[in-house]
Amino acid sequence: MSETIAQAAVLPHLSTPDLSNQAVPRYTSYPTAPNFSASVGCDDHGNWLAGISPNDSISLYLHVPFCVELCNYCGCNTVATHRREPVESYAAHLIDEIALVSKRAGGKGVRRIHWGGGTPSILGAKSLERVFRSISSYFDLSSLDEHAIELDPRRLDNDVLSSIAAIGISRANLGVQDLSPRVQQAIGRVQPYEVVERAVKRLRAAGIANIGIDLMYGLPEQSVEDVQLSALLCSRLKPRRVAMFGYAHVPWFKRRQTLIDERTLPDATLRLSQAMAARNAWLDLGYRAVGIDHFALPGDALAKAAAAGRLRRNFQGYTDDESSVILGFGTSAISRFRNGYTQNHPATAAYKTAIDAENFATARGALLEPDDCLRAEIIERLMCDFCVDIDRIVQRRQTPAIFSAELAKIDQLSNRGLVRRHGRKISVTESGKPFVRIVASVFDKYLAAGVSRHSRAV
Ligand code: SF4
Repeated sequence: MSETIAQAAVLPHLSTPDLSNQAVPRYTSYPTAPNFSASVGCDDHGNWLAGISPNDSISLYLHVPFCVELCNYCGCNTVATHRREPVESYAAHLIDEIALVSKRAGGKGVRRIHWGGGTPSILGAKSLERVFRSISSYFDLSSLDEHAIELDPRRLDNDVLSSIAAIGISRANLGVQDLSPRVQQAIGRVQPYEVVERAVKRLRAAGIANIGIDLMYGLPEQSVEDVQLSALLCSRLKPRRVAMFGYAHVPWFKRRQTLIDERTLPDATLRLSQAMAARNAWLDLGYRAVGIDHFALPGDALAKAAAAGRLRRNFQGYTDDESSVILGFGTSAISRFRNGYTQNHPATAAYKTAIDAENFATARGALLEPDDCLRAEIIERLMCDFCVDIDRIVQRRQTPAIFSAELAKIDQLSNRGLVRRHGRKISVTESGKPFVRIVASVFDKYLAAGVSRHSRAV
């Protein structure tokens, strides 16, 4: 607790609550998903697939939109089911979509695969293996360097464990959030430390040594001490990576969050204290800070990428994945191409109807103009490196840009101690780092148009 107060004391010149309360995107993409439109559709998806060059490195993302039960805080696109039929049917559609996409992009080499959700393990051993066999029959996996899956520590039966080992999963990310029974009760996700510990031990015994843990701050009933104790307990499990996400309370967007009593949520000041307490805890435990909300052991690829200026941002957060193309499969999955983004239907029924008709399931997307690419890179470097040399990016991309209005806003943030500016070089100060999303948002021309609602900055 004392560390937190000390950290907060370095910010007296910042009126932080007004900054913390600002609603800005997380910038896992630019333009951000709320700015995608239906003017980009199946034809674009097909053309962009066909336009993938042999020089492009490709990652695959498979979305599984089912969970056994829903947690109150969850912002993911997922539904609860106890039945096998919808899950099996969904797996069959994933296989069909993979075959459909492979007609335009088949045979290409894939560097990474990521299973996310939802709870991917709900597919069960047989379907996991069937979907993976389909990927391996249509794509070249000889250069696959990472195969990752998001896991719920409560849902790891022996069959699934054997199956994820058999398909070559090399990294597993466990959702933990907080280990306090009081907080777990408030978020509708009860999983004692022993459950998490057992899952980690079994994964390691199955040969999956690269374990990551997702934690959260800003949860209902959560205190600074809870955040610190969760860090301490999780560190005993020796995860290579830790993500410390701020809970985004967006009940107008995620109805299940209305189950959370808003009176039990920490205010902006407490959220900031929690974020800083978590940061201090993980740094004290020997982890390196990666971007705004990730931590990694010094030898981990993510920490190395951050140190070398190779950190990237994608829909999973911070990554060392340098792929130029991400192909998303399944409900709501987003694909990234050099020319733009496409997103599948967010509703499983519409997704399945499209795939049954042998059409791509694209519902919307965004075409990337040169100005978007320029702004995307400026935003990504700020989010990843906390600094950016705009002139270098402008010269390399040969996309002239003045940014006089943006630089004037940067100067306002400079007056508040968040950034320093030398010409068109911007660096975020140590005390400004928790607010880097606000700094990045200066270059977001869509946010200025004010069409979407986002979560708090911290
Ligand atoms: S947090 Fe994970 S397990 Fe809980 S509802 Fe969301 S996706 Fe499912």
